[in-house]
Amino acid sequence: MSLKVYDTMTKSLREFVPRDPGKVSIYVCGVTPYNFCHIGNARPFLVWDVIRRYLTYKGYSVRYVQNFTDVDDKIINQAQKEGVSALEIADRYIKEYFHDMDALGIQRVDVYPRVTDHISDIIALVDKLIEKGHAYVLDGSVYYSVESFPEYGKLSGRSLDDLKAGARVEVDERKRHPMDFVLWKPSKENEPAWDSPWGPGRPGWHIECSVMALKYLGPGFDFHGGGSDLIFPHHENEVAQSEAALGTPFVRYWVHNGFINMGGEKMAKSVGNITRVRDLIKQYPGPAIRYYILSTHYRSPLDFRLEDMPAAVRGWKRLVNLEDNLERALAGTEIKPPADLSPAARQFQDLLAKHRQAFETAMDDDFNTAQAVGVLFDLARDLNRYLAAGAIEGERAVMLADGRDLFLSLGGVLGLTGTSERSADKALLDDLIQLVAELREDARARKDYATADRVRDRLSQLGIILEDTAAGVRWRYR
Ligand SMILES: [Zn+2]
Repeated sequence: MSLKVYDTMTKSLREFVPRDPGKVSIYVCGVTPYNFCHIGNARPFLVWDVIRRYLTYKGYSVRYVQNFTDVDDKIINQAQKEGVSALEIADRYIKEYFHDMDALGIQRVDVYPRVTDHISDIIALVDKLIEKGHAYVLDGSVYYSVESFPEYGKLSGRSLDDLKAGARVEVDERKRHPMDFVLWKPSKENEPAWDSPWGPGRPGWHIECSVMALKYLGPGFDFHGGGSDLIFPHHENEVAQSEAALGTPFVRYWVHNGFINMGGEKMAKSVGNITRVRDLIKQYPGPAIRYYILSTHYRSPLDFRLEDMPAAVRGWKRLVNLEDNLERALAGTEIKPPADLSPAARQFQDLLAKHRQAFETAMDDDFNTAQAVGVLFDLARDLNRYLAAGAIEGERAVMLADGRDLFLSLGGVLGLTGTSERSADKALLDDLIQLVAELREDARARKDYATADRVRDRLSQLGIILEDTAAGVRWRYR
């Protein structure tokens, strides 16, 4: 089945056809680093982390670019408050950003361009827009003329007339149209400034994404992503700038994620209803937070409730425990595919194929992670049953190894497996559980059934199941 993606530009589900066969190019608007990220800020990066992993799973070579808006009013304000440079604030919160995203298992993208490293590229594009009659100079500022681009409004579905009627009264009356937006502006005193043909200043916000996306991905790249709050005006303006300069389409598919709400309102620093990623990862494992967020389709709003987190942790633990059980069950077992498979083995293979198919069907349907997570749990349930149904040897070991590979492959797309490193503590814990199991065997050998039962019951309460097999006692997590 082919991948279908909901495109904001056409407001429809479209089959994905990449610009270059076998390759996918992605640009996602990054953060303005002036503070810690809250979980609403992190959602697009988590969503795109999974999209990128899935496209890689499908065999595409993916190039993913995400910017840092490292010069901005908010950064400058924070710098002035603390009496440090804007650069220092940006550097600090870029570091904190990576700390938080790493904890959520979000893989690094290929290029993280920063605005302050691309000023000459920005000046060149602004210059080009002036030359082509799409921008004009006004007292050291450069404005984009929205009326020069007849398709203005096509992404967000707004018309210039409606926008004009709804414009705030205090807009600069010297502008040709109230929706004209700034491409370059003079810096105030003590603000970062760069020389330009229009005087010392700094870029407006929107131009940077056009410049950096086109520089690293080229015209007509595949995916442009971000939160749905960016559709207007930010992405609308990106389209206007880029297509006016190029004369050809800027992006093939526009993909926007829904908000994270808290207490019925969009999570936002200005509202005050935020949960910082930093606080969340102190309390809960990163993969459990991923599991919680991915359990909602990326386009739907997600009502974030802290009281849901313990259930998310329990859910994720089931995956971790299975991963652990599989590893121990297959450790030291010879995996030698037999020439002929028994009917039972063939049936199990069909079952695995069915799960893989269901997972891909879900993800091909506009990256439906909510459904894909459900498939992963279905697979986990069947693998647990298989583990419990008999000794893991011969053909059954081969089948279980196939099951494990599938589980890790699909779980890896969601970033929900392969997350718990086998630390020294973990190895010690394994040895201790094995020791307790052996001591219980000794009790049974002495016919001390009271002790043996007590040990088994206590372990069971801790979620550890003992099993008597021909090869001796084995244990697994429930
Ligand atoms: Zn952007």
